[in-house]
Amino acid sequence: MWTSEPDRAGVAGGRRAPVARFLMPQDKDIKRLVRARMVGTGERYTDAKAAIDSRPRGEVGRHDEPEATAHPQDALDAYFRAWNAWLRTIAHEARRNTPTWRHDEPKPPVDAARWGALHHPNARVRRDCLNILDHHANDDSLDVFRAALKDPVPRVREIALHGLACERCRTTELCVTDVAPDLIRALQTDSSAKVRHGTVGVLARLAGRNERIVAALRQAATDDEDPFVRQVAQAAVDGRRRDIRSAKALRRRAGPAAIAADKS
Ligand SMILES: [Zn+2]
Repeated sequence: MWTSEPDRAGVAGGRRAPVARFLMPQDKDIKRLVRARMVGTGERYTDAKAAIDSRPRGEVGRHDEPEATAHPQDALDAYFRAWNAWLRTIAHEARRNTPTWRHDEPKPPVDAARWGALHHPNARVRRDCLNILDHHANDDSLDVFRAALKDPVPRVREIALHGLACERCRTTELCVTDVAPDLIRALQTDSSAKVRHGTVGVLARLAGRNERIVAALRQAATDDEDPFVRQVAQAAVDGRRRDIRSAKALRRRAGPAAIAADKS
């Protein structure tokens, strides 16, 4: 049921069979239930479908679908649907920031998010999955963050970098020696100046704990091909925290020419 292509082909190859798109939503929900039941009972499709069809109408719903047996993409779709519905309710009831406003927030499917972060065909979902892992399973998702550093979309790689070195979302202490090589490699080899720029900010925070990081920042300050990356790397080396600006802020300050160059 789970596809887990370890290579990049998985991103494009993770697409579902096109037939699913032509089914009515309700049929799709039922088909999902049938598949879940087949895994649970070992029945053939027709038998599982007959069993599902024979139940009273009101009993057929997503709520009785065991998450563990659903395809991760279905589990993710269901979660994002439920989460958006929850958000609409929050807005409707104007209950945001009351003491218990998140008490019924849907729980994210963490295992499915591990699959989605690397294999979902939509980059936006891969980002959302990395954010789920950052917030709900950071300590146990380092391998996923690491693998996502090879994502073809820069914005996905930025979230992966954040997850790899995020100390706010972890419950155990970050081992800098563990993640430094990945972060340094991103600074030295990532093809996107924006990703390298973001990496400087992450590395600057950890520089006091690792000599190799200081050396890498020093090198980037002189060797990086992007003038803004060199500028923030130098600020990081000098310990000028306030000058380690976001790529956007730096380019805005530099004027319209730099912004045009950034967009090209
Ligand atoms: Zn975080």
